[in-house]
Amino acid sequence: MTYDDYINSTPAEYYMQECFELAKGALGRTSPNPVVGAIVLDKNGIPAGRGYHKKAGFEHAEVIAIKEAGELARGGTLIVNLEPCTHTGKTPPCTDLIIKSQIKEVIFCNHDPNPLVNKKGEKILLDNNIKVISKVLEFEGFEANKFFFKWIKTKLPWIALKQAQTLDGKIALRNKNSKWISGELARKEVHKLRNEYDAVLVGANTVETDNPKLTVRDVEDIKNARNPLRIILDPDLITKPDANVYSKSVPVILVTKSSHSEDKISNYLKYNESITVIKLPENENKKIDLKQLFSELGKKEILSVLIEAGPVLGGDLILNKLIDEYILFVSPKVFGDNDAISSLKIRPLESIDKSYNFKIFKHKTIGNDLMLSLRPFI
Ligand SMILES: [Zn+2]
Repeated sequence: MTYDDYINSTPAEYYMQECFELAKGALGRTSPNPVVGAIVLDKNGIPAGRGYHKKAGFEHAEVIAIKEAGELARGGTLIVNLEPCTHTGKTPPCTDLIIKSQIKEVIFCNHDPNPLVNKKGEKILLDNNIKVISKVLEFEGFEANKFFFKWIKTKLPWIALKQAQTLDGKIALRNKNSKWISGELARKEVHKLRNEYDAVLVGANTVETDNPKLTVRDVEDIKNARNPLRIILDPDLITKPDANVYSKSVPVILVTKSSHSEDKISNYLKYNESITVIKLPENENKKIDLKQLFSELGKKEILSVLIEAGPVLGGDLILNKLIDEYILFVSPKVFGDNDAISSLKIRPLESIDKSYNFKIFKHKTIGNDLMLSLRPFI
């Protein structure tokens, strides 16, 4: 939150911003649940309890905050970024506890998008004479839970394409050397992103060229960091079974063509028997249908995928309009070499009005690099 935001925000908005911060600490850990943060203010408006939902199956944010507030919750206000739940899932309904604790007001951001429970929490609270204010910072709430909202509506994960390039659009020299185009702080930011996404996906060429680990190493709170699931897209099985990405330390999904024999696939399983293999048919272009892959990942309750792509995979994703976000790190240097490797390989365009257009959603400088968050114009 900026100073201006702070000065201009109402107390409800101010604490809602804090709920987002609490909630975002659990990104990549709560799937298939949303991320939720909650704050209980006592009857004088002083924070008495805070909580966030740490993981699916664990206590909901409201419960943690109300328990922490204890007696001070009576006559107080609950601020939470999602409509409190009314149904018994892995944990009891939050509305029961809110009513029992004699909270007099509930302020939330987004209604639960699940049609089975949408607005039911609000109704139960109103029926019990609890004042309800909804849609506070609604747009920011969608953003905080963009992975969840995309998945609940489409059963597809949020797809982010991440690349780092020079000013002249190059991601590696002609000898494929790409270490390092971005500065140290930008590379740190990538570790932060990996820490927030359910899965990180790379193509076979990236594995062959860089032999990456795809782990989270360089983040401030390393104790609470966790490595995302790794997804390796290797239609022709060209990657080496002992590549770093197949190590046993982190769950791995290998995605390949269904035409491969079990024998060929067993080379990978010999190295790490816990690899999950997804076999998919080739499409007319002799490629794996990425939309079908994302649908399979959605079925596995993977809500977000960060794709660290080279030019071919990146080009396919943009050409087929499959991304929700393009995260681009631009380093202010020029290779000036036509044979250096460009960030995206897409078929030739006949005219400029056929370009793939994005809007700049967010931008910030990180060290001496520019980080762009771009959203496609649909
Ligand atoms: Zn709940």
